[in-house]
Amino acid sequence: MAYLPTATIKLAALRHNLAVVHRYAPDAKVMAVIKANGYGHGVLEVARALTDADMLAVARMSEAVALRDAGIAMPILVLEGASDADDLRVAIERNIEIVVHHLSQVELVEQYPECGVIDCWLKVDSGMHRLGVTTDAAPELAHRLEACVRRLAVLSHLANADDPADDYTLQQRRRFVEAVEHIDGERSLANSAGVLAWPTTHFDWVRPGLMLYGASPLVGKTAEDLDLQPVMTLTAPLIAIQSVAAGEPVGYGGTWRAPHDMAIGVVGIGYGDGYPRHVREGTPVLLNGQKAPLIARVSMDMITIDLTGIDATIGDTATLWGDALPVEQIAAGADTIAYTLLCGVAGRVNYVYEHG
Ligand SMILES: *Cc1c(COP(=O)(O)O)cnc(C)c1O
Repeated sequence: MAYLPTATIKLAALRHNLAVVHRYAPDAKVMAVIKANGYGHGVLEVARALTDADMLAVARMSEAVALRDAGIAMPILVLEGASDADDLRVAIERNIEIVVHHLSQVELVEQYPECGVIDCWLKVDSGMHRLGVTTDAAPELAHRLEACVRRLAVLSHLANADDPADDYTLQQRRRFVEAVEHIDGERSLANSAGVLAWPTTHFDWVRPGLMLYGASPLVGKTAEDLDLQPVMTLTAPLIAIQSVAAGEPVGYGGTWRAPHDMAIGVVGIGYGDGYPRHVREGTPVLLNGQKAPLIARVSMDMITIDLTGIDATIGDTATLWGDALPVEQIAAGADTIAYTLLCGVAGRVNYVYEHG
């Protein structure tokens, strides 16, 4: 395995981060969001480790069915709901709960031949303007659903909760509360940022995703500030050390030239593994406890690093993100967010699970 890029997944860190959710939201039940292959961590291992959560949430019906096929028996919610009558039948057969975010989905439930066999979460648009029925329509649609579901709950989603200084979150909260005032059922609004920064958004169910994986969802706060532990550490082997003469170019396009005679290292991971191609030069890679700056363009299978002042041997393990190198830092270097890097780890990367 020495020559494969590896994502080491610490399930103890995942469970620790879930305990942090419980600490921030002691009175709420927890719906652990594990869409997109558990944010790139491997959905089945993640689901099996999250036995202290009350429910799991995924984006699509196919993700929920895969969990059921693998024997996961916990309650599961599909955040985008059923797209047609077949989806709805599968949800009912497999005991999967669904979001209903649109009039067409209300009609699907109404038209199902049996009554009282599905658990629905009516999604209200409180200001994100992506999914959800309008606040005006919510009471009547809830009334219609109540007539044909087994259990009705309500939810909405926050657009700006990552910024603790942006009071749009409180506007959304107010609109949500008003819209669902006369609806009898459990309430859910908070994502990870809501859990951490907006206690009045917790209600009955919180829906953390990113924080479970140990990355900070909040502007201006690191994971460490929040007592979150990175679950994934992405590593790859140093596969070559080269001497490059002053003035010589390195990599595609020759965009980078050696400022002096120097040693560079080639690490066996690239954008084909999910390392971001657009990361800035100088972004750190950890090697033997030292930070080696990235140089030149990221290739499909390789990156190059400056080994000046670093004691390195072929076969050494480089860390791209994770322990001692927060994924948020790499995301910032690539003008993106931790979510995309975690979700983007490619299938050819070797996954190792630490259960301890
Ligand atoms: C993805 C998602 C979440 C989790 O968001 P995080 O920012 O990762 O905590 C919660 N609710 C809904 C509806 C989502 O789509």
